[in-house]
Amino acid sequence: MIQELIRSSKKIVIKIGSNTLAKEDGTICREFLENLGEDVHQLMSEGKQVVIVSSGARIAGVSTIGKWMRKEDINYKQALCAIGQVELMDAYRRVFEKYGTHIGQILYTREDFLEGARSLNIRNPLFTLADEGVIPIINENDSVCVDEIKIGDNDTLAAYTANIWNADLLIMLSDIDGIYSENPKNCEDAKLVELVENIDELRANIEIGCGNDFGTGGIETKIEAASKVGAYKIPMILSNGKVPHIIDKLKKGEGKGTLFNLGGI
Ligand code: ADP
Repeated sequence: MIQELIRSSKKIVIKIGSNTLAKEDGTICREFLENLGEDVHQLMSEGKQVVIVSSGARIAGVSTIGKWMRKEDINYKQALCAIGQVELMDAYRRVFEKYGTHIGQILYTREDFLEGARSLNIRNPLFTLADEGVIPIINENDSVCVDEIKIGDNDTLAAYTANIWNADLLIMLSDIDGIYSENPKNCEDAKLVELVENIDELRANIEIGCGNDFGTGGIETKIEAASKVGAYKIPMILSNGKVPHIIDKLKKGEGKGTLFNLGGI
């Protein structure tokens, strides 16, 4: 079903989590980006449009400047995001340059999605870039946001983006194959849930553990994101970005993942 869904989707949002993008030492994983670039190029040469929602500005900031990792003060967090966002975009630019594909940066804030006229305006660059074969790369505008007025995690941002762009599919890449009965990092017997058609049933049947060091939302925000896009009948796949060429593998029916099909497609 996942295979068929990717093949039939024209407009795909791909969300990249911090843990997918970062190596264990906190630097950007170039190999992951190279693989992603190839897979996205392949999707686009099949006539699909792709929008990327990418986390990782703060870790990219830490690895660039080489300090402030443990600083919790908001001004330092914002400063790290300001430094890291440039690095992040540069890394994406280099990857897609090889295929002659341009990228465009869009930084959203929470208000953009809440206010009527503003939320109409923010759709325009997204549609134009994608229609013109440019890949929009989206993040929250972390260098001007404080916790109180934040969307707060990119799972939610990816869901909002998929909804305003009328995407056909949201693919969320994390560092696990999908949703498990328990946190797979702590429980060897945890079982992968391959299909979710009802969120309440899922919640009744799984245990949600902690996320990772660099992650912000954990599994809870991924389930909520599935529910948000599900309300617009957009399916979501959660899969493992640490597996090389995972998007290509999913497309060939070889990769593992959890499919949220809440709209009954
Ligand atoms: P990302 O940075 O990719 O958004 P997070 O760290 O926010 O990732 O969330 C993914 C993590 O959630 C996984 O690495 C896993 O350890 C943890 N987790 C907790 N409970 C579960 C569960 N029931 N199924 C799958 N993963 C879980």
